Amino acid sequence: MQKQTGKKKLNLSIQILIGLAIGIVVGLILPGDFASTWIKPFGTLFLNLIKMVVVPLVFTSIVVGTCGLNDARALGRLGSKTVVFYLFTTALAVTIGLVAANLFPVGRNLAFEMEAVTEAETTSVVDTLLNIVPTNPIKALAEGNMLQVIFFAIALGIGILLCGEKGAPLQRGIGSLAEAMYALTGAIMKLAPIAVFALVCPVVAVNGPKSLLPMLGVILTVYGACIFHAVLVYSAAVGGIAHISPVRFFKEAAPAMIFAFSSASSAATIPFSMEASERLGVPQSVRSFVLPLGATINMDGTAIYQGVCALFIANAYGVNLTLQQQLVIILTCTLASIGTAGVPGAGAVMLTMVLSSVGLPAEGQAMGLVLGIDRILDMARTCVNITGDIACSVVVAASEKQLEPAPNQ
Ligand code: ASP
Repeated sequence: MQKQTGKKKLNLSIQILIGLAIGIVVGLILPGDFASTWIKPFGTLFLNLIKMVVVPLVFTSIVVGTCGLNDARALGRLGSKTVVFYLFTTALAVTIGLVAANLFPVGRNLAFEMEAVTEAETTSVVDTLLNIVPTNPIKALAEGNMLQVIFFAIALGIGILLCGEKGAPLQRGIGSLAEAMYALTGAIMKLAPIAVFALVCPVVAVNGPKSLLPMLGVILTVYGACIFHAVLVYSAAVGGIAHISPVRFFKEAAPAMIFAFSSASSAATIPFSMEASERLGVPQSVRSFVLPLGATINMDGTAIYQGVCALFIANAYGVNLTLQQQLVIILTCTLASIGTAGVPGAGAVMLTMVLSSVGLPAEGQAMGLVLGIDRILDMARTCVNITGDIACSVVVAASEKQLEPAPNQ
């Protein structure tokens, strides 16, 4: 990532925040059609630019990161710490979502008739794990399948290390491509404030306050639980393990959080999370591995949303979920998050799996209500998803004694 001066850094964060504020205000004024036709394309243009760089950026930086790890055991340790952190915080998040929805039982007043339960298509855990190994790495890169890209990049990095001197030119070549991708990404990210405006404005214009009012209970519960999880769990993790002040953590993470909120895509936010993580002192070898992995397998916000919505839908049909069923939800959410891509709307697809695991209808009236406000919920959950990724990168770097001190410490 590009090094920026303190002043410039602050400016970009504030500009992004201003973009968000103007996007919300203008969205409240403009008609939905107008905003969708004339403003949304600028947001889409930016997302396309980011998607253009994200696969080569992730691929080259992981190859470079793997080549930089001089001992294979370090990679195994890094991997296991990352996966344990991700699974643990996701399980915690869905628990927080369920507790919040038990405390504030939204949906009881709806009294819908129970509908037929259709089995959602599920992928077994074994298949999900087998699918991490790409049989065709070029296809994995072309389709942007993040887990497969990560696997191939690590394998190639190991291959380069194994062939010693003969691998050096390839290592230099990929290193040089990585530098070009950082420079290009840095240039594209300068447009972020306008992108945030163009992404948020149509969402606000289309989902006017009137369409949100009937589902206000669900929205407030999801947002409340998300804020609770982010503030409590991540502050404890970065403060307790990495000894970083939570205020500094959230300040540095803010541009990435706002971009995740506006784009509802963890994958598109990777360049922003990488920059935030760099500012927090996480070395390249750790962040280039932990963050793309997190964008795919770590979904704390999504888990919260699933916990709340599963209970909302149960309440709407007058079904009381037993403790055992709620434990099944925790397990299903945690495992389902592994194979789900960090793109808008992915969490709603996962929710259908969670619902059918406890015999709730995944296609009925209640799910229709949840889908109606999906984008609004997606913004909050994606914001928490990537904050969890950045927190993990800080914690893993600190546990490996590789966290660089703050510039002014
Ligand atoms: N949009 C989320 C993400 O990119 C996934 C979801 O739909 O919950 O992280």
